[in-house]
Amino acid sequence: MTEEDIIKQYLQGTMVLHRHLCPRQVLGVRMGLLAAKLLQLQLPQSDKRLLAFVETDGCFADGVMVATGCSMGHRTMRLVDQGKVAVTFLDTKLERAIRVAPAAGARAAAAAAMPDAPNRWKAQLDGYQVLPDEKLLNWQDVRVELDWKRIVARPGVRANCGQCGEEILNLREVESERGSLCRQCAGERYWSAAE
Ligand SMILES: [Zn+2]
Ligand SMILES: [Zn+2]
Repeated sequence: MTEEDIIKQYLQGTMVLHRHLCPRQVLGVRMGLLAAKLLQLQLPQSDKRLLAFVETDGCFADGVMVATGCSMGHRTMRLVDQGKVAVTFLDTKLERAIRVAPAAGARAAAAAAMPDAPNRWKAQLDGYQVLPDEKLLNWQDVRVELDWKRIVARPGVRANCGQCGEEILNLREVESERGSLCRQCAGERYWSAAE
């Protein structure tokens, strides 16, 4: 199978999830394929070796998921919400990481590659599938600063919050003078009781 066939096959997968196809899904798929090449991994993976830190959610993340096998469900995809169509792939075995983002000229390159496209959106949708990696994407070796070993943690570990009593998985509790607490009770609140 050529790379173009593989891209088409993955896009079939994202279409099933979305009932539509859009340029960001293509970018996610292309970034996942690039990760396989650069990190020399068999993707989509059936284990948990590769971690993907996606920098936005939405269609893009599903493209990454289909091409890599990294997912929230497998705890191999994390959202680091910076509102960017970018992703850092971490090979947890070799502790090597690569961040991938769109190349600055990707939109223009797509338009140039698809001169007969009826609009920019369609030019991107089709162009992103055929542009070479160098025209579509930027990538660099990086070091993941997040405590990813804690993020991965040990499956099956649980604690109970000393305040609300709810169960906390994966070492997400924080230690305080009041004992082990969930993040909400420790003050990292994302909700409060309605009036
Ligand atoms: Zn979309
Ligand atoms: Zn609590």
